[in-house]
Amino acid sequence: MANSEDPRAIQSAILAENPGERELALMLSPAAGEFIELMAQRAQSITRRHFGRTISLYTPLYLSNFCNGGCLYCGIAGDRRAKRAVLDEAQLRHEMEAIKSMKLEELVLLTGERMPEADVPYLKECIAIASEYIHNVTIEVFPMEELEYRELATAGCTGVSLYQETYDQVVYEKMHRWGDKRDFFNRIDAADRALRGGLRTIGIGALLGLADPRFDMLCTYRHAKYLLKNYWQAGVSISFPRINPQLGGFRADHPVDEKMLAQYIFAMRICLPEIPLILSTREPQRVRDGMAGVGISKMSVASKTTVGGYSDDSEESTEQFSISDERNIPAFCSMLRDKGLEPVFKNWDATYRDPAHYEHVTS
Ligand code: SF4
Repeated sequence: MANSEDPRAIQSAILAENPGERELALMLSPAAGEFIELMAQRAQSITRRHFGRTISLYTPLYLSNFCNGGCLYCGIAGDRRAKRAVLDEAQLRHEMEAIKSMKLEELVLLTGERMPEADVPYLKECIAIASEYIHNVTIEVFPMEELEYRELATAGCTGVSLYQETYDQVVYEKMHRWGDKRDFFNRIDAADRALRGGLRTIGIGALLGLADPRFDMLCTYRHAKYLLKNYWQAGVSISFPRINPQLGGFRADHPVDEKMLAQYIFAMRICLPEIPLILSTREPQRVRDGMAGVGISKMSVASKTTVGGYSDDSEESTEQFSISDERNIPAFCSMLRDKGLEPVFKNWDATYRDPAHYEHVTS
């Protein structure tokens, strides 16, 4: 077992040709904080080799904030006094027109837990409508059965984000006071069901701050390696959300500061060179600007975390958590270009979703 305090072992891990779990553990150690510059250089060079000087963009769209869940860290948990709302077809079309006018081509549709207001038939309809406007429609909703995922794939859904929040089962139980999300294994197994059900991409991650972040990073790495090995045709990505202010005022037991966050992202990039690493607008401008292209290859932009937020500026809160980076798309893209990075609005062509077209181009 390598000594995580040994500077030579840490340097060798950062520069290793094929780093694995042992090297990751060394790079996640507090002692590796001394080598953050070296890690940043290696992470940036790997990111450029695999993603060029590009940053893929996407935006989230909250369909509903109805939820009976009891997640301690969430601003729309069942016991919060949040105003509840769900988009109907006309409102969804209104939102889609607002998003389409921003030229975005990748969208994540979100809901709370499975509720009568936002169930699988509702999601199916929303996916079909959103797919009329946007090429790449994915979901971040409740875990489902394989057949349900298959139905959503048929409606046009291409991928799913299923963050485990924490891989520490003791903390997980404490954080999820009631509701379907209390079932740790149902959630972790949902990634397999989604990919078996025909979805093409899976996003995983831990909510940094809930439990020991180094443990959660190591487990996220193992989860990603497992998915890559067992579903070689799937696209796997990792997000790095940290706990943000929300209704209910939850505070992190294991706060992750900006330097730790950077260290974890660099370590993951060095050990997982080819998979998209994602940073959302939860993070403040300075963090997003500093991480763009240095490990991170995909970012949300112009996000609203309220239901109907793209076409309605009402003050009353329906949001799950606060966002920090509120720049609009031109301002964000201008920052990227100043850094020599090219924003990518559409990196996947819907024509490949159409079997007739595929037969045509390959015949
Ligand atoms: S995290 Fe999800 S399941 Fe939990 S309370 Fe919030 S919306 Fe509901």
